Amino acid sequence: MPAAHLISAARGALATVLPAARGALADAWALVAPVDCAGCGAPDRALCPACTHAVQPSPRHALLALHDGAPPVPVVAGLAYTGVARAALLALKGDGRTELARPLAGALRTAVERAWPPGGAELLVPVPGSRTGTAARGFGPAVLLARRAGLATTAGLRAVDAGPQQKGRGLAARLAAEHPRFVARPRVRGARVVLIDDVITSGATLRAAARALRAGGAEVVACAALAATPRRVGPSSIPWRSIAGNDERPGDNVAREGYREGKEA
Ligand SMILES: [Zn+2]
Repeated sequence: MPAAHLISAARGALATVLPAARGALADAWALVAPVDCAGCGAPDRALCPACTHAVQPSPRHALLALHDGAPPVPVVAGLAYTGVARAALLALKGDGRTELARPLAGALRTAVERAWPPGGAELLVPVPGSRTGTAARGFGPAVLLARRAGLATTAGLRAVDAGPQQKGRGLAARLAAEHPRFVARPRVRGARVVLIDDVITSGATLRAAARALRAGGAEVVACAALAATPRRVGPSSIPWRSIAGNDERPGDNVAREGYREGKEA
């Protein structure tokens, strides 16, 4: 049996382990198992030097109104959700390659630093993964990335079962969806919150999380994410601007495999 198949079989075996233990096991597994670069497939590196370079922070910002009539808040993403960044995050989330959180974490940390409001904030709250996604993976991507970035987060939200209808729905339908996706925990009451997520696509998830926090007595003052879908790819209408001062160019960083909605949860 080729080595790659053995590794694949072993990864499959990992998937049968209890979810709570899986994240820790996957970390340990990554230390002993040969892996291929998640960006280009080069052998024996979780992420090769060239691909590591490709996920160095390249922050972009936008202003996003989180509620009807609310003043927009700053939103910063550390990377474009394309190319190596997208491949690595999909491998982390879809294949449980948690060792990729470390090379990606710097971009999240930069995004949080750039988004941090001058007036400060009390809590850094990660958007929780969907209940089914978190149960299947054994970890929430935003929580894991934040931990690797050395950021102390507060579990201020919990995901509620929204049913299967979110996936594949159009932007308008998602925005119109009334079923709450999150509920705030009592500990957030009265706090100014910076909300963090792994990927921003349409902004619908941030809005849903902000709605829940507001209902729980907290105020979202800024948002940060590891990556964001470029404005010309997919349904995102968020007018991202590079913090270096250059707007995204048409076709900039567009993923070869094209846009697929529904990977943000
Ligand atoms: Zn590579």
